Amino acid sequence: MIQTPIRRILGVRIHDVTFREALDIVDAFLAGGGAHQICTVNPEFVMHALRNPAFFQVLEQADLNVPDGIGLLWAGRILKQPLRERVPGVELMEALAARAAERGWRIFLLGAADGVADRAALRLRARYPSLIVAGTFAGSPRPEDAPEILERLREARPDLLFVAYGAPQQDLWIARYQPELRIPVAMGVGGAFDFIAGIVPRAPRWIREHGLEWLYRLIRQPWRWRRMLALPRFVLAVLAARYGKGGTGAGVG
Ligand code: UDP
Repeated sequence: MIQTPIRRILGVRIHDVTFREALDIVDAFLAGGGAHQICTVNPEFVMHALRNPAFFQVLEQADLNVPDGIGLLWAGRILKQPLRERVPGVELMEALAARAAERGWRIFLLGAADGVADRAALRLRARYPSLIVAGTFAGSPRPEDAPEILERLREARPDLLFVAYGAPQQDLWIARYQPELRIPVAMGVGGAFDFIAGIVPRAPRWIREHGLEWLYRLIRQPWRWRRMLALPRFVLAVLAARYGKGGTGAGVG
């Protein structure tokens, strides 16, 4: 098994993995059997987890929490919890689809608005023609919709399940149903289907490389401003943990 150091950012558990290591870990999950959960942690996740014990617990138990977001790498430096590399959720999903095509893993796309998972699957199939899409379904994270979703997933028997209900709903949903589903790898991917389907444009590469994707998203999707207040709150919390009274920020609460 690959060594994955665990870091704590404001107490929240994150694996210090590189992009390539994350892919190899998924290979090992598939080869080793059992059911796994992957979360793509960003500063919004951390702030949410500090207020929501159920979500905090999901992150404690997940098999892999990748550092998705430049803010986490910055916080890792400040808090002496070093994270080597950003592992963006969308890019990890795309790379996993490529690997699924090579290995013959069956993928299932659950979530996003009606028709979006389908479009994302078509785009992925166009890129990786041997990709096996076991199914797509919008569904919803509401408990009353779970029976139908579980039924579809049991029939489709995917190896990789991508769930796009946004955080924390998607991650809570996976943690709630994975014990009965026992899918080898289930991963929450936020708005990834919208990006892959081409409904929401991704920031140009130079913006991403300068760590400004959050600003691009704020300008393109201004209705997100309220949620994005999590970012300045995160920065303040990290600085308080480092320079305020008592502590390195490595402990919980
Ligand atoms: N979504 C959904 N059902 C819900 C709530 C959200 O399918 O009840 C989808 C929504 O269509 C979008 C994704 O979840 O595709 C969340 O995207 P967002 O950009 O908000 O997530 P983030 O990447 O910020 O976690």
